[in-house]
Amino acid sequence: MTSHDGKVNIKDLTRADLTEQLIQMGEKRHRASQIYQWLFKKWIETFDDMSNISKSLREKLDRHYYISKLEPIDSVQSSSDGSRKFLLACEDGSIIETVLMETAGHKTICISSQVGCPVGCKFCRTGAGGFVRNLSSDEILNQVIYFKKHHLEPNKRFNIVFMGMGEPMLNMVSVIKAIEILNDESALALGEKRITLSTVGFVEKIKRLIDSNAKFKLAISLNATDDATRRKIIPNASNIRELLDAAEQFAIARDTRVTLEYVMLEDINDTAEDASRLAEMTTGRPFKINLIPFNEWEGCEFKTPSEERIDEFIRVLLPVAPAVTVRRSRGSDISAACGQLRASRLTTNE
Ligand code: SAH
Ligand code: SF4
Repeated sequence: MTSHDGKVNIKDLTRADLTEQLIQMGEKRHRASQIYQWLFKKWIETFDDMSNISKSLREKLDRHYYISKLEPIDSVQSSSDGSRKFLLACEDGSIIETVLMETAGHKTICISSQVGCPVGCKFCRTGAGGFVRNLSSDEILNQVIYFKKHHLEPNKRFNIVFMGMGEPMLNMVSVIKAIEILNDESALALGEKRITLSTVGFVEKIKRLIDSNAKFKLAISLNATDDATRRKIIPNASNIRELLDAAEQFAIARDTRVTLEYVMLEDINDTAEDASRLAEMTTGRPFKINLIPFNEWEGCEFKTPSEERIDEFIRVLLPVAPAVTVRRSRGSDISAACGQLRASRLTTNE
């Protein structure tokens, strides 16, 4: 654990909070935007690099604040599709994973919101590994900054998905703060369409999201078409009808569509009856459906459905449901789904 002598973590502050603190220090309010740009647009790691800021203020900043970062410790390249998975170390030694994916020349960063996950979905390797702690907003942002700095072309658009480790709704304050900083024009300046928050679904929290200032798209991991099956694979899962109603409220209030993710598990949720139930509960509503064939991992009893099963599912779903897409095992050869690289590394280290 690094000691910062009681200094404040500057990347963990919203611009409004930083402005207020700077004013109290006798500084002009526009300094906050300048500092934000150094931190989030130029990704500097010492106050000394803030060249348009006076030496005396740089020294003052250095006495009050510190600049956090994540250290890369490992990465694995997928041979089949160009996705690459990275393990990044937090200052306390916790390890998180982020994946850089590329589809049709378009880069997407898949980031984590927690170290591990307390939800414990039966098909998810992160869930099987248990929960360590929430990430702070600067740790969430530093994943994006790491990629911006080392792996993304300047000025090229990219997307962010909260689909790495963890359940964002169980770390709502830090996740929303991080999204607001991603949105901020003085910081990453990413619009609503560039950020997707994926959640296993907490009805009241989804309703609260509607009123937040953060701009992002919402994806909900539905994963079953009846409550009994959903509760079997997702412990304490919320009720499907209430969940879809909350998702619809979000979509209508924000004039968007909510994506329903559906991890396909052989003989659990991949039958033609499931497909027609899924079609029935989504038809005419502001949703998109993303089918994700299960990414198998050692020690997990579930299987990926056959191609025929998946095709049959789509055949029933497609004519009735809103837009349907299938994620064809992207990165499966490097275990890119949720928590798998970290888990395999932790296992080999033990
Ligand atoms: N906790 C959030 C976000 C992280 S999981 C959520 O559950 O939505 C991101 C996505 O990966 C979810 O849709 C989840 O259902 C899916 N997922 C987890 N393990 C998987 C596996 N082994 N194969 C395929 N998808 C998986
Ligand atoms: Fe957590 Fe999402 Fe994995 Fe479920 S699927 S255990 S909510 S990370």
